Amino acid sequence: MADDTKQRLSIIRQIFDLHASIISETESISEFNLACKAGCSACCTANVTMTWLEGELILDHIPADSQARLHKDLKKIETQKRFIPKTTSNHIAELCAADEEIPDEEIDPVWGVCPFLSDDLCSIYESRPMGCRCMVSSKDCSISGAAQTDPFILTVNNVFLQYIEHISATKPFGNLLDVMLNILNTTDETAGSSNLVTSRPLRILMIEPAHRKKMESVLSRLNAIG
Ligand code: SF4
Repeated sequence: MADDTKQRLSIIRQIFDLHASIISETESISEFNLACKAGCSACCTANVTMTWLEGELILDHIPADSQARLHKDLKKIETQKRFIPKTTSNHIAELCAADEEIPDEEIDPVWGVCPFLSDDLCSIYESRPMGCRCMVSSKDCSISGAAQTDPFILTVNNVFLQYIEHISATKPFGNLLDVMLNILNTTDETAGSSNLVTSRPLRILMIEPAHRKKMESVLSRLNAIG
């Protein structure tokens, strides 16, 4: 792995840790309490998206002698219906700022489960992507039917997704399955790549006006990572 990639992966890990700290700080100072617990997997659908570098991070935690097996298992489900994003967080921020239309996206949680879900547990929990870390709820989603999240945490999530995308800028972005298939693919360079879009640099932040003041300290902690 190139030094530049190693450094970017280290930054992503630090961003993950900061996100976890902010969620727990928000819990301690507000009425928001996490209902999420081990074995609760309602959000672990086939629709998770991530950057290329988050895929590299997952692979970094998978022993080399298990990677060919993983590739084979993922190939078996490559026709599975799943969310194929047309855009990214940073692209959406740019479209909003320019008052342009955001493309309609087709997404349905019934399309299936994440390929890394095993017995209702995440088999790559420590290296799960930011999209998964953003799925936090104060109500059990399997009972309430949807996550209920503190509005400030939604803003934090958007900003963290934008930063993670920025670190991976110019590299592919897409459904977790498509990113993993492409990273693991050592023979056919184009397999599944038509489902991928490109991560963009962060040009404009998506922050609710009501949260701008509170986000200042979050942004200075994010900007201190390096
Ligand atoms: S990567 Fe892990 S946490 Fe994320 S959707 Fe898959 S099983 Fe769930």
